[in-house]
Amino acid sequence: METAEPFAIAGQSVAPGTQADVAFPITTMANGASSSLAVRVLHGAWPGPRVFVSAAIHGDEIIGTAVVQRLAQTLRPEALSGTVLLVPVANIFGFITHSRYLPDRRDLNRSFPGSAGGSLAGQLAHIFAQEVVKRCELGIDIHSAAINRYNLPQIRIAAGHRRLVELAMAFGAPVIIESPLRDGSLRDLAQGHGVDMLLMEAGEALRFDRLSIETGVEGVTRVLAHLGMIEADDGLSSVGIPARANRTVWVRAPRGGVAQMVRTSGDPVRKGDVLACVAGLFGEEAEEIVSPLDGIIIGHATLPVVHQGDALFHIAAIDHPERVGAQIDSITEAILASEPQGSAQGMLDEDEVV
Ligand SMILES: [Zn+2]
Repeated sequence: METAEPFAIAGQSVAPGTQADVAFPITTMANGASSSLAVRVLHGAWPGPRVFVSAAIHGDEIIGTAVVQRLAQTLRPEALSGTVLLVPVANIFGFITHSRYLPDRRDLNRSFPGSAGGSLAGQLAHIFAQEVVKRCELGIDIHSAAINRYNLPQIRIAAGHRRLVELAMAFGAPVIIESPLRDGSLRDLAQGHGVDMLLMEAGEALRFDRLSIETGVEGVTRVLAHLGMIEADDGLSSVGIPARANRTVWVRAPRGGVAQMVRTSGDPVRKGDVLACVAGLFGEEAEEIVSPLDGIIIGHATLPVVHQGDALFHIAAIDHPERVGAQIDSITEAILASEPQGSAQGMLDEDEVV
């Protein structure tokens, strides 16, 4: 097979079969320190697709950082066809302050395409778009739920896009949600440039959990194998068929108080099933919260102290929820049963705090 051409990025030339760490200057902060966007380039020995994997666009959603770290330890450019760009932390400002946002209080994922002369968020979005997104034909962007919330590992894709369904099925997360794109989001920008995007949602902000990390590492690895960029790994478990939905519903607290959760993410529910009870400070006037539809719980609040209107459950509308729930259980069991890929640093405990 013909060997690949060198990969030019950030004034460097990365030879085929090698890797390089590059940093794009973003801004100078109030204290005079400069900060940059760190990217690892794994440039394969042979030609092939160009794929980026990014994490922490919302700075407190750090699950993807753990996934990228594991990929950085396991992917070998000398055995790769094509190029992988790894971005462990897209929003370094939010990452170090444990915040979703940037110091200018903007949301990076609503700031695309950005501009070189724009706000801090706009500058960072512009660099990310120019130097990472537009160099690739596929991106996998990893998010988690907000703080005090948990998301069942799931892939979100633009609606009605067959190629994305194929890639999402290859990824093998328990659930695939087809959803409209938000203006200014990375997925919106990518679609405008013909870059396919898979968005993974998994776990909780500011926390690591093993199911989320393993789903991400195995999912990205499966997609790269599906694209012919790496050999399909023997250690990779085969997974069942993910559940699919194109409509989701938030269920909110009917009153303020203390919530006792009855169901959790991954559970199948029927319309009318009790999800939680919310009562007053003495346990009085408990109100049951019931599911308004048949489906699978794909996210839930982990904090029992709730105000009226707080979103407690996110439910994907799915027919035959019991059967699909059993499928989801078999997928998560297979993910957790597999040998961790490249776990030289040891297994991470459930809920290990960074
Ligand atoms: Zn996010």
